[in-house]
Amino acid sequence: MPKLTPITIVNVGYRSTNYWVVSSGTSRLLVDLGYPGTMGMMQARLRQMDIPLEEIRYALATHYHIDHAGLAQELKVAGVPLLLFEPQVPAVPVMKSWTKPQDHYVDITMHNNVVIAFAESRTVLERIGIPGEILHTPGHSDDSVSLLLDDGSAFTGDLTPPGRIGYEDPEVVAASWRLLREHGARRVYPGHGPVRPMDG
Ligand SMILES: [Zn+2]
Repeated sequence: MPKLTPITIVNVGYRSTNYWVVSSGTSRLLVDLGYPGTMGMMQARLRQMDIPLEEIRYALATHYHIDHAGLAQELKVAGVPLLLFEPQVPAVPVMKSWTKPQDHYVDITMHNNVVIAFAESRTVLERIGIPGEILHTPGHSDDSVSLLLDDGSAFTGDLTPPGRIGYEDPEVVAASWRLLREHGARRVYPGHGPVRPMDG
């Protein structure tokens, strides 16, 4: 039997947003991609946590809001491929409209992105040594996705906790939580705030 490399999870977040590095040894995935204009801060946080940028195999944004995908293009230029899902593609060009010139947002080009279907996510993650899948979990936004590891860790971005629904469609939010639960989610690693149990 092949020896399993333990999965580690590190938060390199700042400005009250969590940016998670999920690693299998030195093969890493960055979940959520910083604020516009903060590449220096992201690099400093990675250095502090002893994570070389070149070990990050993919950048994954849970959704295309500026606090979750603000550095996607700069990370690409630095050599980290952007993993994109089909429902996210139309959300990418809209990001620009939420930024001001002083944010120094670098627009994400549609070149050199790795666009895959959800059904392929397990295979793509397997190739970088991370057992899990990526699921479509709309509710906070139509383009929201969650990374679910086989150990039950769920990286849900801004998927609205069931008790805090405002403008969202409650049925869409409930269906996303149900999907995560059915696929074995046990702990939530949200885009903001502390890690919590799935039913906490
Ligand atoms: Zn958001």
